[in-house]
Amino acid sequence: CGIIGILGKHEVSPQLVDGLRRLEYRGYDSAGVATIDGEGRLDRRRAVGKLVNLSDKLVHEPLVGLSGIGHTRWATHGEANEINAHPHRFGSVAVVHNGIIENFRELRAELQALGIQPESQTDTETVALLTGHFRDQGMTPLEAARATLTRLDGAFALAFLFEGEGDLMIAARRGSPLAIGHGEGEMFIGSDAVALAPFTDKVTYLEDGDHAVLTRSGVEIFDSAAQPVSRVAARIDIGA
Ligand code: GLU
Repeated sequence: CGIIGILGKHEVSPQLVDGLRRLEYRGYDSAGVATIDGEGRLDRRRAVGKLVNLSDKLVHEPLVGLSGIGHTRWATHGEANEINAHPHRFGSVAVVHNGIIENFRELRAELQALGIQPESQTDTETVALLTGHFRDQGMTPLEAARATLTRLDGAFALAFLFEGEGDLMIAARRGSPLAIGHGEGEMFIGSDAVALAPFTDKVTYLEDGDHAVLTRSGVEIFDSAAQPVSRVAARIDIGA
């Protein structure tokens, strides 16, 4: 339901929770964050219910790192429990998702035939399984994300993190909004510019079918044919 992503300069977990708090008004049943630490390790924490449950968990089991993604979930496929909460992970890939992957059952059957077992009931986990599988086959993060996107039917906003890649985030949208936030040596994504207000007022909205490759030094945006495109950045005034 709500997405935030940060390639930052500061410990990112509290920033992710802050961004998610600004998306609470949209409603949600669970929440989670994933980060990449200084050694490139990917890890995540998830909790059912209010964001305070997630922030309490982060006090007892801290998640360090300057790069991360966060999500508030409004369950569409699979009940609201911790295993179904985002970020979903398979191997070196973590993903958060708004929307619905319509063909997840077919994709899941294909993956199961390859011996890849889902652990949740969600449509979203299929995205992590596919992308992780493509990584395991030797694709780069961008190749793996693109190969996954071509297989998905439905409406989505997605953000990907990759283990060992602390300066990389990939985002994509089809039917669900996604905004890129520009900082000074930091980059952000949000399903709603409101989530980015504490961090930046310079925002680029992805257009439908776009995907974006973010590093701390900027963003490259590609259309649905994987051609580089330029999208205007605007100053927004929504108040931090
Ligand atoms: N369809 C996904 C799920 O049920 C994402 C729902 C959302 O947009 O929060 O996990």
